[in-house]
Amino acid sequence: MAAEKMINHTKLILSQGDITRADEEAIVNAANSALAGGGGVDGAIHRAGGPEIMAEGRAIGHCPTGEAVITTAGKLKAKKVIHTVGPVYRGRPEDPRLLASAYKNSLALAAKNKLKSVAFPSLSTGAYGYPVDQAAKVALKAVKEGIEAHPGAFERVHFVLFGDDAYDAYCRALDGVY
Ligand code: ADP
Repeated sequence: MAAEKMINHTKLILSQGDITRADEEAIVNAANSALAGGGGVDGAIHRAGGPEIMAEGRAIGHCPTGEAVITTAGKLKAKKVIHTVGPVYRGRPEDPRLLASAYKNSLALAAKNKLKSVAFPSLSTGAYGYPVDQAAKVALKAVKEGIEAHPGAFERVHFVLFGDDAYDAYCRALDGVY
């Protein structure tokens, strides 16, 4: 299952699966501020990519909410892992702003490193508790704006969604945002 839209010359893809298997130049990790590893998609990326990723994360040391840092992708097929920190959902007005910043700063870092294809998980919608319907709208709007802010930078931006609920929520949001 997959859904696609063109945004200028960039293909935006929604699919269901495991992001550690994504065949894109950059994989985005839903990290925590301490870059200390964790469960969910973070655990899966470190397990599949090996200890080099954590070693580089430790050397960087910290990433504020809404920002992004870059490391090796270790044994993954990707060239780089971009670690970004979404907000813990508390229903505050700044939650959508911080979530949008996490997506936009990840794309800015990919563009700066000339990475032409980027895979995202659904940031903040697991342990961080962001309701997935709301998060999907914020994510797709932020990614559209991020693609438009870097003309020609990306061939593909790919959301790799884990499970039917997340995939369905992003498909509904895609119809609303574009
Ligand atoms: P956060 O702490 O930002 O909420 P989580 O990793 O707990 O991050 O969850 C973010 C999303 O990633 C959830 O929708 C979760 O189902 C999903 N997820 C977990 N493992 C994977 C994986 N291997 N590939 C893609 N998405 C995943």
